[in-house]
Amino acid sequence: MATEADSPLGVLIDRQIAETGPVPLSLYMQLCLTHPAHGYYHRPHPIGRAGDFITAPEVSQIFGEAIGLFVALLSRQLPKGHFDLVELGPGRGTLMVDLLRSLHRAAPDIRAGGPTLVEISETMRSEQARRLADHGPVWLGHIDDLPESGPPLVIIANEFFDALPVRQYQKTETGWHERVVGLSGGQRAWGLNPTPLPESAMPEPLRHAAIDERFETRPAADALMALLAERIAGRGGVLVAIDYGYDRTQSGDTVQAIAGHAYADPLARPGEADLTAHVDFEALAAAAVPLHVHGLMTQASFLGQLGAAERAEALARSNPDLTGTIAADLARLTASDQMGQIFKVLCVSSQGISPYPFDIMSTSGQVAGTGHEGDRALAGSRPGSESARAPDRAGPERGSGDRQ
Ligand code: SAH
Repeated sequence: MATEADSPLGVLIDRQIAETGPVPLSLYMQLCLTHPAHGYYHRPHPIGRAGDFITAPEVSQIFGEAIGLFVALLSRQLPKGHFDLVELGPGRGTLMVDLLRSLHRAAPDIRAGGPTLVEISETMRSEQARRLADHGPVWLGHIDDLPESGPPLVIIANEFFDALPVRQYQKTETGWHERVVGLSGGQRAWGLNPTPLPESAMPEPLRHAAIDERFETRPAADALMALLAERIAGRGGVLVAIDYGYDRTQSGDTVQAIAGHAYADPLARPGEADLTAHVDFEALAAAAVPLHVHGLMTQASFLGQLGAAERAEALARSNPDLTGTIAADLARLTASDQMGQIFKVLCVSSQGISPYPFDIMSTSGQVAGTGHEGDRALAGSRPGSESARAPDRAGPERGSGDRQ
């Protein structure tokens, strides 16, 4: 039964559990994030200073601009430089605004149509419409709606895959049991599905795990990646996914809730906290068959190879009063103890494309002459205090998957 302080969605979930039994974590997470009336992503302003968490494009314009440069370089490898630009889960639209400005500056000859935005939330869509009014965006509710034919696709996804529901399993004396959300003494509580899965159903690295170890699978992320791969295989193109996570499948409980700039109990007040899990890049890449998988890079080396440090210097030269802020924001994006290492960049493409800076053998290939030098910084529009206060979603104990 719901307590007095419960959220409206909490009341509905408890009622469902009371009637039909405990729900798998994946269903709980899906309801919390995307319930049509009370889901988290339908709330106003979850991202940014007024929201619950901060993302890379909200930290600094350098992030979206680097991706714009990536797209400009990539477009040289696409027939006639023609492509459809797609973003998955664009949030406030900040990345796309910065990307388009930088793309047009680095490759003024490119005539890309309006970007396609895949966005589930009406609240987010209206913010994106406001920010991208000059660029003629079109929206899709689901990746399924992406046409099977057309020019090559260039698909960008920043902190999208971490927002998709995960399933969790826990090892016990009797095997692996799925973690569920049930009721205990009238309160929501974690439980285990009594029917065990055999050890053989688990991936190789999980065999012989210790009792109480947990393991997550991401069926929604894998299914979406498979669909995207099918579209890219048919039309040609590239997908770049930037997210926090690990490069090899491993055990651990990475589900976390953030509300009001602080880590929260995932079971408390459903629909009012952001729920995410780390991305398993090995599994995500495996789901991209038949595409070519280009190496996973850290966010630090991806941004570094695309000239982030030089861009920061140019911004600081033009905006001396913002020098400290610009340096702090760059550090937030690239330092190993901040977002630089835990955030990784996966690139998959159709055959015959070799996107810079993936697959390069040395780190000497810095991009020169990006066309960015000397313009006015937009850094002031992303207050330094914002990035200093709001947590990112990579978790309090970066680098370690296991929290309990
Ligand atoms: N990329 C943005 C926002 C990340 S938050 C940034 O970096 O700031 C996740 C985004 O994905 C939000 O815009 C959310 O509304 C959207 N989203 C979450 N689940 C989705 C789904 N199943 N389909 C489409 N969009 C989804």
